[in-house]
This record gives sequence, structure tokens and C-alpha cells, in this order.
Amino acid sequence: MSNNLLSITEAVQKLEANEISSLDLVRACKAAVDEKNSTLNAYLEVFEDIEEQAKAADERRANGERGALLGVPLALKDNILVNGRRASAASKILENYVATYDSTVVKKLKEAGAIFMGRTNMDEFAMGGSTENSAFGVTRNPHDPTRVPGGSSGGSAAALASGMALGAFGTDTGGSIREPASFCGLVGLKPTYGAVSRFGIIALGSSLDQVGPFARSVADAELLFKVIRGQDPLDSTSITETTHPKVQETRRIGVPRALLKEGVDADVLARFEESLKKLEHLGYTIVDVEIPSAALALAIYYIIMPAEASTNLARFDGVRYGLSHKGENLFDDYAKTRGSGFGPEPRRRIMLGTYVLSAGYYDAYYGKATAARAQLTREMVAALSGCDAVVTPTAPCPATVIGEKSDPLSMYLMDIFTVTANLTGNPALSVPMGTVMREGTQLPVGIQFTAAHGNEAGLFAIGKTFEAA
Ligand code: GLN
Repeated sequence: MSNNLLSITEAVQKLEANEISSLDLVRACKAAVDEKNSTLNAYLEVFEDIEEQAKAADERRANGERGALLGVPLALKDNILVNGRRASAASKILENYVATYDSTVVKKLKEAGAIFMGRTNMDEFAMGGSTENSAFGVTRNPHDPTRVPGGSSGGSAAALASGMALGAFGTDTGGSIREPASFCGLVGLKPTYGAVSRFGIIALGSSLDQVGPFARSVADAELLFKVIRGQDPLDSTSITETTHPKVQETRRIGVPRALLKEGVDADVLARFEESLKKLEHLGYTIVDVEIPSAALALAIYYIIMPAEASTNLARFDGVRYGLSHKGENLFDDYAKTRGSGFGPEPRRRIMLGTYVLSAGYYDAYYGKATAARAQLTREMVAALSGCDAVVTPTAPCPATVIGEKSDPLSMYLMDIFTVTANLTGNPALSVPMGTVMREGTQLPVGIQFTAAHGNEAGLFAIGKTFEAA
């Protein structure tokens, strides 16, 4: 197998055994970039110093140094700050913004010895489910370039699925790691809210956002997660590994049947039912669970997320960061800068968010959504008191054709299964569950496992068993 297609676990073993060097890994990934990135548009930028990074890692290893990711090439979504490098969140308003500090995630990855290949394309400010909302062109799905890779972390997913890195990081506010993982045949983890520091991540919805890994195996996802997790004094919402109580294993898996009644493609549902059978063979008991408010999750999410987004995006004013257009007066500066810097989706969400937070409508929309979110969280806790994980398909369909979901509402509906875990703060893992055929091409689809707060270990255990069977 060529070196760029190895799992991280395999690559680290080979590095350790001196069978390959980090330079070999980086060159193999770079060859895939040269061959495919002009078509796929997975990376917005491949860093010029990747070979220097690899040589430095090889030297450190030769000197006896070790690190969980020493010499492993990874891809980073364009909203994760790396000191001295650009981070644009795929927006014109931050096109030339250069980060002046490392995000905590990057600091931890550097300590573990990781190599950064480049920054990957995404929906502008992580708003979307297809990577079609990028200001810098759409990313294509390596399994079928006429289709989207999913989003908003579509560049990271496409980079990993096409061998341009050995692992990748994205952010997930409503499914942006899990959905592209499903569309690209990868494992994707949205950690428990607070498990990973958000310091140095360009925010979308601060009560929803989490950074997480894309990987070729559950074991790799676990390895990447363990490197980035941990409480951080620079993020007051971050938690320790012991914040949540340990959960007792039940060997039961809960299915919220009511959610699967409509809107899911028949063959995706068929793969899901086969997966449940497989879990049964593996010794799990499949039980029905009720999460009645999950039917409202999209409505809740599409009030809370824009509210938080409109607040977070207020800082892009042409004065402090990035793009700056001069107008007649200060207000005009704002209008000119924001009017030309933000694409259609951020503008839509800023308007929606400002509306639901406005004095006259706050109680009717934001207040209600907050109350419904609390109810949903209680229902999720109750459902998970009787089982190890709640399962659904990750998305109701496989990767869609570019341009197919041009109506924003139809795009939002694809998030039906993923937004709940962000609203409730639970960790959720997407694992490949086979393929479905579209126009002569086999397209991957994923199954999503959601566990109790802090129980990533439980997700990895189920995911590994499922993946191996
Ligand atoms: N698709 C969802 C949205 O458009 C999720 C985005 C995300 O997780 N960043 O908001």
C-alpha cells in the first residue's frame, strides 16, 4: 500500500521500525496533492515547508525523541489557527488574515510532533453541509467528483479520503465532521462539548462548536482525539476527562425509530438495518428509545446557531481583522466591509440571528429554542440511561450532486440526525456502514453512535467492534 494511504497507527509502527521516514510520508501525500488537488480543491493552501517539517521530525526521531504523532502529516480546516499562517474560514473577509498565535489544538498537535500539510477548504465560516459555500470554490468528493464531499469540513474529509494526509481535523457545530465523514467513507468524531479547547478556533456557534478528527479507522480517531483533548485555562467551557461520571456498560444500543419514519433514502435505511443486525451478532441488544424533541432539533438548531453566529461575526468590522473598506463614515466602513466580505450564507445567518435576538422576538424564538434545547438534553440523558449509545444513520442520504441542494432549506434538512448531539453536548461518532449506488457509482454512507457525556471511550469501543466485523 502506498505510504499516503496508511492508517496513522500503521505509519507510526513503520516510522518506529525505521521502514519509512516522515519525509517519505510527506512526499507520498504531496504526490497525491499534485495529482488530485486541482480537481478536488481539498486544500486551499499546501504549506511550502512540509519537507522541512518532515526532515525536522525525522531528525527528532533519530535523536531518540518520541511523540504520539511525531512525523505524521495531517490536514487542518481553515478555521483552526496556526501561528504565522493564514486562516480565512474560506471567507473573503479573512482572505489575507495571518494568525498571530497557535490554537490550543495546534499547540497540542505540535507537542505531539505532527506535521501540518496545509489548510483545507470549508463552507464559509463553517456554515453549510457541502463545502459549496466556500468563497474559494467548491470541493469535490474523491469517490465521485461530480458530488460534494459534505461539509462544512469537506476539504479535510476530501484531503484524507484522497491520500493527501494521514489524518485531518475539522470542526463540528451541527454535523460538519460527521456528515463529510459519512459522504467520504471516513470515521469522524464530534467530541463531548468542552472536551477539546475552542481557543484559537474561528467561532460559529460557541455553545455548539467542537474540534474533532477525521480518520481512516476508529483507532486513529481515538489517537487523534487523545492528543487534542483536555481542559484549557484559555477556554472556560473546557472540561477535564473526569468532569463526567464514568458510565456502566449495558451492551444495549438504542434506536429512535420515530425519527426514521420519513425523509431517509430507502437504501441508506437498508444499510442501517443491516448494521443493527451486525450489532446484534456482536452481542448488543437493540432496544427502542424515545427522544420526542429530536424531531424539533433542526428548528431549535437553526435558531440558536444563527443567533450565536450573528454575535460571533460582529467582530469582523473592517477595523480589527482582515478585509477593510473605507466609506464615508464609520458605519459606512462597516457596511462596505461586511457587505463585500461576507458571502450569501453568512449574510443569511447574520440576518436570521439578529432577528431572533431582537427585543421584540427574543422570547418567541431564542427563549423558546433555549427551553426546547434543555428539554432535548433531558430526553437524551434519559435515553442513554438504558443503553450505551443511540444510533441513527449519520445523514439521510449519500453525497449529493454539486448544485443539487441549492435551496438552503433543503440543505438544512440533511442535518436532521447530526444537530442533536451539538445541542445536547453529547459525543457522537460516524463510522462507515457500507455503500449505496447512485448513477453507477458506489457511495459511502455512515452510521452515527451518540454516547453519554464524556463517554468517548464507549464510542471507540463500539466503533472498533463494528468496524472489525
Ligand atoms: N450543516 C450545518 C450548518 O450548516 C452544520 C455546520 C457545522 O457543523 N459547522 O450549520
